[in-house]
Amino acid sequence: MMPRSVLSRCARLTQQVPLESVRSTKHGVHRGMSSVTIPPPACMLRPLEVPFRYLFGPGPSNVPPRILAAGGRPIIGHMHSEMFGIMNDIKKGIQYAFQTSNNMTLAMSGSGHTAMECAVFNIVEPGESVLVAINGIWGERVAEIAERMGAKVHTLFKTPGGHFTNAEIEQALAKYKPVLFFLTHGESSAGLVHPMDGVGDICHKYNCLLLVDSVASLGAAPLLMDQQNIDILYTGSQKALNAPPGTAPVSFSERACHKMFNRKTKPVSYLLDMTHLSNYWGNDGKPERIYHHTGPVSGFFALRESLAILAEMGLENSWSHHTEIAEYLWKGLEDLGLKLFIKDKDLRLPSVTTIAIPEGYDWKELLAYIMKHHRIEFTGGLGPSVGMVLRIGLMGYNCNKANAAMVLAALEDALKQCRKSKA
Ligand code: PMP
Repeated sequence: MMPRSVLSRCARLTQQVPLESVRSTKHGVHRGMSSVTIPPPACMLRPLEVPFRYLFGPGPSNVPPRILAAGGRPIIGHMHSEMFGIMNDIKKGIQYAFQTSNNMTLAMSGSGHTAMECAVFNIVEPGESVLVAINGIWGERVAEIAERMGAKVHTLFKTPGGHFTNAEIEQALAKYKPVLFFLTHGESSAGLVHPMDGVGDICHKYNCLLLVDSVASLGAAPLLMDQQNIDILYTGSQKALNAPPGTAPVSFSERACHKMFNRKTKPVSYLLDMTHLSNYWGNDGKPERIYHHTGPVSGFFALRESLAILAEMGLENSWSHHTEIAEYLWKGLEDLGLKLFIKDKDLRLPSVTTIAIPEGYDWKELLAYIMKHHRIEFTGGLGPSVGMVLRIGLMGYNCNKANAAMVLAALEDALKQCRKSKA
């Protein structure tokens, strides 16, 4: 074997040897020594390949052709007046989807986590008390985000599938006196839709702002930002809205704006600073929008189209449609002998159904079989629900009886093929 020092010298030498380059010039092909030492990777010289998949997990979901086409339109500049017009439309579309008249409504350039961080970073100052309801992975994430920026984090805890009573929430608010309380509306890791009535009022009684995650529930389960006194609400583009991942609607109430625009310290993130973002979205009343960052222009086109589809369908129709298909799916799953993880029907999230992993099966094998033989993506649990559940999502465009029937047929087949011998 060659000693290590010789080997590393050889590696250095190979890197230093210039590549022969072939350049095409006005006068023909020119062969010479190239200044680059790293050759073009072979994979980059092959065309992009993307398989077709039925995305029936907890997201992203399949994107309908109309939204794909909107995202494929030629881009314009992020500071062009037409782009500002499109952003104004998006703002109106979000106000409808959230049922809010908040002026401070916009879409983040980034996924759901971006909105999560934006909310915490802008509302909370280091050393302030925050209360986080953890009944799955999303509370865990927010607790970590708040801890990283120096907040004093207190938690209310339930195992996945559990929910919090208003009395439990009130007790914790009285004890910890937080400036912000976080609750997940659609807990996609457990398949639970959390009751929201009264929570906002209790928070305000204790001078606390209510932050709600609706990434997995928006458009699928009823949520009324203003009526339910929610101070900060965010969602993602890739679930029931059916846009590609990468943009995240968010809205702040007057109370939330008062807190975030009267802070003593600057938020830790420049990119997510709402002072700049509110100007970029034309929400700060200033006559001029000043460059802050380059927004995802194609992503905003697609988001606008997805909000247009929701507006055309109507929120209430969208909610009842998701419930109807979910109920059809739940009945079919029970007919297959499967057990739904959330026992109380009223607490089941219509967009993401969780089933207890059936006895005598390896959940990873079930998922792999269904992907291989049916091209369908379901997923296992996430964070604290790993090993507890399988998750099936039928959201927006994917939410119809034909797809639910396909889900049931694939599961029936997998249950026949993947049973482990008891020996
Ligand atoms: N919250 C919930 C309830 C979610 O389901 C997700 C995504 N699975 C997120 C937050 C995070 O969103 P993203 O992956 O878009 O950052």
